Amino acid sequence: MKGSEPIPITLGPARRAGDRPGTDRRLIDAFGRVATDLRVSLTDRCNLRCTYCMPAEGLAWLPRREILTDDEINRLVRIAVERLGIREVRFTGGEPLLRPGLERIIAATAALRPRPDISVTTNGIGLARRAQALADSGLQRINVSLDTLRADRFRSLARRDRIGDVLDGLRSARRAGLRPVKVNAVLMRGVNDDEAVDLLRYCVDNGFELRFIEQMPLGAGWAWRRENMVAAEEILVRLSAEFTLTPTREPRAGAPAERWLVDGGPATVGVIASVTRPFCSACDRTRLTADGQIRSCLFSASETDLRGLLRTGAVDEQIADRWRLAMWGKAAGHGVDTSGFAQPSRSMSTIGG
Ligand code: SAM
Ligand code: SF4
Repeated sequence: MKGSEPIPITLGPARRAGDRPGTDRRLIDAFGRVATDLRVSLTDRCNLRCTYCMPAEGLAWLPRREILTDDEINRLVRIAVERLGIREVRFTGGEPLLRPGLERIIAATAALRPRPDISVTTNGIGLARRAQALADSGLQRINVSLDTLRADRFRSLARRDRIGDVLDGLRSARRAGLRPVKVNAVLMRGVNDDEAVDLLRYCVDNGFELRFIEQMPLGAGWAWRRENMVAAEEILVRLSAEFTLTPTREPRAGAPAERWLVDGGPATVGVIASVTRPFCSACDRTRLTADGQIRSCLFSASETDLRGLLRTGAVDEQIADRWRLAMWGKAAGHGVDTSGFAQPSRSMSTIGG
């Protein structure tokens, strides 16, 4: 398939172990990558139970006192933007719409200078009611997760009978002027891999931008199997049976999705091949968990606590310095497709996808 050659790893040489970020005030790592994209998990809770993400009974939720307050989140986002060079902020979870203060958090983020690009990743439940308020608060674009268009399948995949709410949410997001409205879909073998074409047709017809995400070994049940993952290559073959796909060949920079024009455009489809074509060498992300831990990577084995600093009176620059140090130690790559890979103890929903 055109446009899907392996991505060369072109990291600079690591500096000596123990080196510090030096005078660079940004979130630079020892390989020279600079994080400008912040993912903030607003909660570990969720109102769906997607089989690849959470067990039916849910997880042992973080105690409320450990979750950052709205003010604490606003302060950390401000430090990230004003002192650390963050230019994009994505709010996620768990389910970010479960956070009652989401609109106020977005408004506080939108008031920062330079104003970051702001987005939300959501399962869409409750979005119909809130899309306009979110847009009015300063939200620019949104990603809604939708793995199937079939109500019965949705019910077994998400363990809740809520597909109607998600589809309503998508329409409301479009009506509220959020652009683009992206749809995230994870295909699983024998579950929904026969819906690649239907999902793309639905998105093209409705003006949504579809992105397929390769399933990663981050589910709470530790049930990921390489052979059950539907790889980018296979997704493209399935789509090509019905659509003409032309690589957009835009510079990938830190953008994980590779995109194709659908039938000559303007509609596009993206594939995030985190497993088979990792983009670690261009990664520009830093992550803040709902309980105030910095992770330099989804797959990090360690975290750096900022909540303790926040709650013991640290000044902004002390917090910024701890954050810089956390990112300096970012690993070269996640190694998911290698034999020595170990799944992190936190699942996707508690890290923030
Ligand atoms: N609840 C929100 C949602 O579903 O959009 C936000 C959090 S969810 C963890 C973010 C995204 O991660 C969703 O698109 C979901 O499909 C995806 N996701 C969850 N577990 C995954 C996994 N193991 N591999 C790949 N993507 C995953
Ligand atoms: Fe909830 Fe999102 Fe995980 Fe599904 S993928 S269970 S909606 S956090």
